[in-house]
Amino acid sequence: MKKTNPNGSGATVQPLALNVVAGGAGFIGSHLCRALLDRGESVLCLDNLQTSRPSNLRALEGHPRFRFLRHDISQPLPAELTRLAPRITRVWNLACAASPPLYQRDPEHTMLTNVVGTNNLLHLAEAAKARFLLTSTSEVYGDPEIHPQAEDYRGNVSCTGPRACYDEGKRAAEALTFDYGRAGRAQVRVARIFNTYGPNMDPDDGRVVSNLICQALRGDELTVYGDGSQTRSFCYVSDMVAGLIALMDAEFDGMEPVNLGNPHEMTVNELLGHVLKLTGTRARVVHHPLPEDDPRRRRPDISRAGALLGWAPRVPLAEGLDATCAWFAEELVAEPAAGVAG
Ligand code: UDP
Repeated sequence: MKKTNPNGSGATVQPLALNVVAGGAGFIGSHLCRALLDRGESVLCLDNLQTSRPSNLRALEGHPRFRFLRHDISQPLPAELTRLAPRITRVWNLACAASPPLYQRDPEHTMLTNVVGTNNLLHLAEAAKARFLLTSTSEVYGDPEIHPQAEDYRGNVSCTGPRACYDEGKRAAEALTFDYGRAGRAQVRVARIFNTYGPNMDPDDGRVVSNLICQALRGDELTVYGDGSQTRSFCYVSDMVAGLIALMDAEFDGMEPVNLGNPHEMTVNELLGHVLKLTGTRARVVHHPLPEDDPRRRRPDISRAGALLGWAPRVPLAEGLDATCAWFAEELVAEPAAGVAG
């Protein structure tokens, strides 16, 4: 029996349909799990809790249609998944540390998570006849020479630098995913996620939005790497999750990647200005050296997502930053021992 999606997207939902969400306890993954539960679906979350906040998981664990299995996808998947295969309709791969300092801490594991882990999940999707979605990244464009970045740009990535474990890992994961798709082994979708922010980020993640907001709230020095003239384009997490679901739901052959992100580009200095204004902090700004291979600029061309999915981000930066700041303010009071990256 099918029922109509309560979110009114027009899609139908199978009550017994089971989503496997690898990385479901992470920042974007936890919002995705919540959105899938809200539309009446069931979720089995796989996560090794390497970079996830336990509170993200606690907020989901009481739900009757949610289950958690602690597992590292670079290892063979739990046998239980084979038993559940007839129920699995969708496999989402969001499992990988995404913040440069964290994914560089164990580069071998980052590479294997992307390559071996993606292969393990693709095998599962094939066995279950489930649709598979890989969350790839704007990092596949490296330090881009083409601006904004459209999906047909092949990128300027160093395969020897400190970001290679992630960038090249994701590029290999894309190659594997499209090979499964080409061979008819699984229906595949590939999203290239650009910088995303919002509640459930880890204060210790080391990303620019979380660092600046947490530093401002704590009265710590605000860290700008380099001269702050490098650009990024920041997407609020609810927009990102809507894009991921639209991509998974979309009926097309899936054999092309789709950029998801907010095309509103700004320098790190401009972002800093917004955070200073929003928090009213009088803390000092300090400059640290620009990390090696840090891309100079980044902005998604989202015309493909618009044409294929009818998707575009809706949440303006001021609104998203306000909500994120309010969430971090509560979070830092609730978990004072968690510490803040500086
Ligand atoms: N950055 C910064 N201060 C910080 C953290 C990051 O100026 O405390 C810079 C970083 O060098 C990069 C940009 O902000 O140019 C975005 O960094 P982030 O780690 O958030 O994401 P990336 O796009 O590099 O993966």
